[in-house]
Amino acid sequence: ARDLTKVYKMGAVEVTALNHVDLDLYQGELVVLLGPSGSGKSTLLNILGGLDQPTTGDVRFREHDLTKASDRALTSYRRDHVGFVFQFYNLIPSLTARENVALVTEIARHPMKPEEALALVGLSERQDHFPAQLSGGEQQRVAIARAIAKRPDLLLCDEPTGALDSKTGILVLDAILRINKELGTTTALITHNAGIADVADRVVYFADGRIVETRVNETRRTTAELTW
Ligand code: ATP
Ligand code: MG
Repeated sequence: ARDLTKVYKMGAVEVTALNHVDLDLYQGELVVLLGPSGSGKSTLLNILGGLDQPTTGDVRFREHDLTKASDRALTSYRRDHVGFVFQFYNLIPSLTARENVALVTEIARHPMKPEEALALVGLSERQDHFPAQLSGGEQQRVAIARAIAKRPDLLLCDEPTGALDSKTGILVLDAILRINKELGTTTALITHNAGIADVADRVVYFADGRIVETRVNETRRTTAELTW
């Protein structure tokens, strides 16, 4: 992302959500985005995932410029290359875990089997459960399985542990770390929990729509080594 700005206009009021942001995500790395509420983290993630367009600036994915892409190209970018995980799981209540994942694998270009995706998040034993029969952490792991079943190049997680207690959050984080390691999926993860940052390759700090600091972790910690 190069020199991104995003200005929301609400009648006469203008909000600058991103103010000249540059960010590179390298293949296979795991980057954590930290910063106060309203600092622009979700706005940036949505733009990186092709859900929103910047007001000015460029977003490139490999050789493609997303800000100049056709609607069709953007749709295929979102469908084939990006997996999203949000704070709330957005599972379909009338479908089982496997069926929720299958919704994606049926339309993806190079999907894995739903069973394989669920195994990667440790839910092989829960495939026939409906969302209401799963804990919050398990539901979030189904949502992660759904996001990765298409084998995305980019996994974008917006506060994936935000609705969970820390013990459950660890299991969700473990699933994300495992996917990043085993599948090599480039991952950007927003959190309010500074303690999580140590599992990342790189930590990017936001304030007032800008990146104010970047820290490279020489060694990544495992979740067992986190203190939170
Ligand atoms: P949080 O940690 O609370 O999720 P954030 O860092 O993700 O915050 P953003 O959601 O990116 O912050 O919001 C950045 C700024 O842009 C905020 O001031 C917010 O009010 C504003 N904003 C976000 N989305 C919109 C929108 N659709 N319309 C108008 N303003 C918006
Ligand atoms: Mg946000």
